[in-house]
Amino acid sequence: MRERVRAFLEELEGECKGRVLIDHPLSRLTTFRIGGPASAVFIPESEAEIETAFELSRNHAMPMKIIGRGSNILASDDGFPGIVMLIVRRGIKGIRENVCEVEVDAGVSMSRLIRWSLERGLGGLEGMAGIPGTIGGAVHNNAGSRGTEISDLLLGMRIYDGEKWSWKGREEISFDYRRSDIGGLIYKVKLQLHKKDRQTLERLYEENMMWRKKSQPLNMFSAGCVFKNGEGYSAGELIERCGCKGWRVGDAVVSEKHANFIINVGRARAWQVFELMEAVRSRVFEETGVELEREIELLGDFPPTVECGEMTFERLESGDTLYRPDIKG
Ligand SMILES: Cc1cc2nc3c(=O)[nH]c(=O)nc-3n(C[C@H](O)[C@H](O)[C@H](O)COP(=O)(O)OP(=O)(O)OC[C@H]3O[C@@H](n4cnc5c(N)ncnc54)[C@H](O)[C@@H]3O)c2cc1C
Repeated sequence: MRERVRAFLEELEGECKGRVLIDHPLSRLTTFRIGGPASAVFIPESEAEIETAFELSRNHAMPMKIIGRGSNILASDDGFPGIVMLIVRRGIKGIRENVCEVEVDAGVSMSRLIRWSLERGLGGLEGMAGIPGTIGGAVHNNAGSRGTEISDLLLGMRIYDGEKWSWKGREEISFDYRRSDIGGLIYKVKLQLHKKDRQTLERLYEENMMWRKKSQPLNMFSAGCVFKNGEGYSAGELIERCGCKGWRVGDAVVSEKHANFIINVGRARAWQVFELMEAVRSRVFEETGVELEREIELLGDFPPTVECGEMTFERLESGDTLYRPDIKG
């Protein structure tokens, strides 16, 4: 593998000006602050460099993963044996303002985009105040909050599918709750916003931020909600009802503030977060029959997800709420 990585990097550095970081810890690229090294991280500077990186990764059989701000990712302690392409381009182009269409680079952060639109009296995004990450990541995951999903505002996007560039209209992509079927790199996004009174927008923004601060552990390292809500239930409420708040494996803890958040309170390892997730999933299944679906994405090697109901729990000596699941199979 190391030979393959070296050959890949030599060619990449020969052909591209973008930054390359070798053996770079994923803990620095994810909001969980967890994860071992990626063989290489590449920050492309142009569309041509993206094409080159895709081509070289194919030629050298190097796995590739696109990352924005890593705010929905749990990266393995062993890292990722491949190239991580970091999308950080940051331009916002307000176009055709009379019809409120906005074109934005995929690497722009949601917080910057939302502030930008508020300052111009453009509504639509205020319900998503406080969602971290990039607009590219938000579109890929169909991120949303308080009744709005990003796909509701989407007009289209510029995508590289590994072979060619194209504009895809909203209607060409299938979106669902926290997922899309976009199979490529999102480079630019076009959104339909609408004119709204700036003071109203500021008020709604503040209200949404207050709601978030009150209900979520925003000052702790996490990757947001661990499990998806389902038909007729909130995953957080189920987890709380099953008594999992405060469960802990090492420095990975089920938040007391929001039961659907696992927080890294120190030096949590990915396997500890993973075990805790599986413990919670299993307990909720035992108590309610609901099989929670993970919202957080795993990157790198993890044990296969255990079928619910196949786990036992053993209370440890060291604390009331400390559980260590014994994962079977
Ligand atoms: C405190 C906190 C609160 C959160 N609250 C919410 C919430 O209210 N609602 C919600 O929906 N989510 C929430 N999240 C989860 C997360 O912020 C979103 O899923 C976010 O949209 C991910 O964006 P990102 O840039 O960090 O993507 P990453 O985590 O880097 O990547 C997520 C996925 O998108 C892909 N991707 C990223 N960029 C691109 C691109 N340019 N082209 C193609 N694929 C790409 C990646 O390959 C990966 O599969 C929260 C997270 C945290 C930490």
